[in-house]
Amino acid sequence: MIELNCGIRVGSELIIDPTRVQEAAAVSHAHSDHIKRHKTIFATPPTLELARYYIGDFTGVPIEYGKTYNFNSSTIRPEPAGHILGSAQFVMDYSDYRIVYTGDFKLSPNDTCAPAEIHKCDILFIDTTFGKKRFNFPDYNYLKQRLIEFVDAAIHSGDIPIIFAYNCGKAQEVMKILGDAGFNTYGTETAMANADIHSKYGVDIKNYHELSQQYPENGAIVVPPNYKFLDDLFPNYHKRTCFTTGWALYRSYIRMRYVDELIPLSDHASYNDLIRYVEEANPRKIYCLFGFKDIVDDLKMRGYNAVKATMANRKNIDRYVLKEMDMFRE
Ligand SMILES: [Zn+2]
Repeated sequence: MIELNCGIRVGSELIIDPTRVQEAAAVSHAHSDHIKRHKTIFATPPTLELARYYIGDFTGVPIEYGKTYNFNSSTIRPEPAGHILGSAQFVMDYSDYRIVYTGDFKLSPNDTCAPAEIHKCDILFIDTTFGKKRFNFPDYNYLKQRLIEFVDAAIHSGDIPIIFAYNCGKAQEVMKILGDAGFNTYGTETAMANADIHSKYGVDIKNYHELSQQYPENGAIVVPPNYKFLDDLFPNYHKRTCFTTGWALYRSYIRMRYVDELIPLSDHASYNDLIRYVEEANPRKIYCLFGFKDIVDDLKMRGYNAVKATMANRKNIDRYVLKEMDMFRE
C-alpha cells in the first residue's frame, strides 16, 4: 500500500508527516505544520529535540541521515533536506518501488543545516510551496549581505533594527548570519532555546542573547512576525523593521506587510530548483504538495506525470498509479 491519507502511508506500518495525531509517525522536520502530538515519533535527533520543546513528551525514536531502517514491508532512509536543522527527506523502498518524499526542502545553501541532494525515484512527493515562476530567489550570499547591510545602516542611523523571523529555523539562521558578521542578536525565549539546540548540534551561533529591557547594543532584535509586544519594546527609540521570507517575492504580500524592508531569504526551494529536482530524480509519477498549480502545468508540459495533491487527500496510489506505471515499465 502506498497512499495519501492524512499523511503519506507506505506499507501498512509507516505514516509520514500525518495531519492527525497517530500512535506512531515519521516526521520530516520540527515546523508546527508538520508535527503533531503523536505517541511515538521517528525523526532525526535535532528534530526530536526541537519538537520536544513545542509538543512536550512523546516517545522519540532517533533515525539518522544516510541509515536505512526496516519496517515489515518497507524501508526508510532519512537524508538532509536543507530546510531547517534536522530536516529530512525520506527515501523509501516498497515492493519494487523507490519512493521519495522531500518534505519541506531547499537545494541552495542554508548556514544552519546540511545541504540537500536530489534522489532518483519512481514516485516523488515533492514540496512545491514556491511552485510559481516568480519565486526564483537571489543568490544566498547576496541575501546575507542585504541582511547585514540593513542592520548596519539602521544602527548607524541610531535606529533599532528589528528582524521578523519565525522562531524555529529562520530565527537561528538570521542569528547565525548576523553573529558571524560581528553583530549581537536578541531573541525571544523560544528562539533562544532553539538556538541552544542548534549549538548542541554543531551550528555555531555567535553573540545571541535573550531579549530584555536592556538596549540591544550593536545588534538586532529577532522576533516572530506576529510578535505582540513590539510597541512596548524601547518606545523612545525609532525602530527599523525587516521581514525575512521567500514570500517577499509575492506582490500581494509586499502590499500586505508594513515593514521597512523585505528580504526573500527562503527556506524552501526556488522554482528552478523544483524543476531541477524533478529532472534529476526522473520519477514516473509526481505528487506536488502545497503551493501553486503552476508547476503542475509546467511539469505536464515537460512530459511528466504530475498531479497536485494535499496530505489530506485520500488517494490510493497502489490501485491506480502503480498499475499505470507498470504498463510503461522498462
Ligand atoms: Zn517547514
